[in-house]
Amino acid sequence: NLSGDAYRCQHEITVTGDEVPMPFSSFESTGLPSEILREVRNAGFSAPTPIQAQSWPIALQGRDIVAIAKTGSGKTLGYLMPGFMHIKQFRKDPQMGPTVLVLSPTRELATQIQDETRKFGNLSRISCTCLYGGAPKGPQLREVEKGIDIVVATPGRLNDILEMRKISLQQVSYLVLDEADRMLDMGFEPQIRKIVKEVPIRRQTLMFTATWPKEVRKIAADLLVNPVQVNIGNID
Ligand code: ADP
Ligand code: MG
Repeated sequence: NLSGDAYRCQHEITVTGDEVPMPFSSFESTGLPSEILREVRNAGFSAPTPIQAQSWPIALQGRDIVAIAKTGSGKTLGYLMPGFMHIKQFRKDPQMGPTVLVLSPTRELATQIQDETRKFGNLSRISCTCLYGGAPKGPQLREVEKGIDIVVATPGRLNDILEMRKISLQQVSYLVLDEADRMLDMGFEPQIRKIVKEVPIRRQTLMFTATWPKEVRKIAADLLVNPVQVNIGNID
């Protein structure tokens, strides 16, 4: 949990793109449904973090986004909250596969994302499961078969499961590449590219990263369409 103090430092915020919406200054101004706002209040959060304030209105417009902000800045809810809204609006048949796919570099991070999803999406009845290596596939696949809104996966394991034809990504319309810089550092680029080929081209794509080296820029240029770029840099 980020205390107020963590954000009482200064940020240099740059937002680049066409017709960028104004940031949200409070949870109430987001228009998020009351059941989600209740979870946010229960968590003791007082306001959106800078990356959330900037990203939410852009993502809620259905646009692609690249968000660059350091670790611990609240990026997870930066994509999850608009993801919940996306699910409420566009969910088809969860039995046919997930609506939202989040790619994450490690089992540990994937599990954290799942925890956050369950905590904030619980009252909205949004379901989520994780696919990661180092554990048997059977139980993971059974969760998917139950019909799931959000799948959080490491690229290696998801690629294996795709090759087994055990999951369909044809219903995915909201794709998140979380910790993109770390995924590329770990050598996951080939798997990511294969996975993305299985996701329909008509989709919203969001990339969250702590750093912005040229490898990340390259994959962003290939996978995102006319994205808005939000950069939150610390200047103290
Ligand atoms: P990042 O992905 O940028 O490293 P996380 O999304 O993991 O950061 O968030 C870091 C911590 O901040 C988490 O414990 C999360 O629950 C908390 N957090 C997220 N949003 C807020 C907020 N608006 N106010 C206070 N704490 C928050
Ligand atoms: Mg993160």
